[in-house]
Amino acid sequence: MNLILVGLPGAGKGTQAEKIVDTYHVPHISTGDMFRAAIKNETALGIEAKTFMDKGELVPDEVTNGIVKERLAEADTKDGFLLDGYPRTLNQANVLEGILKDLNKKLDAVVYINVNKDILMERLTGRIICRSCGATYHKVYNPPKVEGTCDRCGKHEFYQREDDKPETVENRINVNLESTNTLVDFYSKRNVLHTVNGEDDFQDVFKDIQTIISDVE
Ligand SMILES: [Zn+2]
Repeated sequence: MNLILVGLPGAGKGTQAEKIVDTYHVPHISTGDMFRAAIKNETALGIEAKTFMDKGELVPDEVTNGIVKERLAEADTKDGFLLDGYPRTLNQANVLEGILKDLNKKLDAVVYINVNKDILMERLTGRIICRSCGATYHKVYNPPKVEGTCDRCGKHEFYQREDDKPETVENRINVNLESTNTLVDFYSKRNVLHTVNGEDDFQDVFKDIQTIISDVE
């Protein structure tokens, strides 16, 4: 079963990827892990990628695509894989098609975890941290038992990380929105796109994904 998981930050991709990997025993191939492995093993492409990363530059598509191709050629993908975070662009999606063809593999399904932007904002901007003891809460999903009072130390002052502030989160969502829409469009034209409602409970989302997998297998 060869799968791609698509979704905006906060859609629950990480949680679902973990459940898919546990249940179906396919390798979870994320771009970050792939880069780290290629660099650690000092492959030619890994060394090349590192020169860009060290300069704080984006790794060019040709290098990323090469690393993906090497990874997908490894033996552990024989019975399937779960790609996460790649492709991100139309060019990468096209290249991936060629890579899979060269490797005699077929993409079974692209699962898009769809969550409304307002809900993503609510999920991603809700984290608050106690200034005294560092206990973390979520304003909506895991608030302190008494509003404004830390459960652990009883103090009343909370703060937010820069990453969790609304402007930062909104920017992160918008940056990802374009690439997500591109992929959704690309794969729906190829009739491999399956959309699940990521606003449901994560267990229900996983059930939907299992149904999709059993239909395509
Ligand atoms: Zn506290």
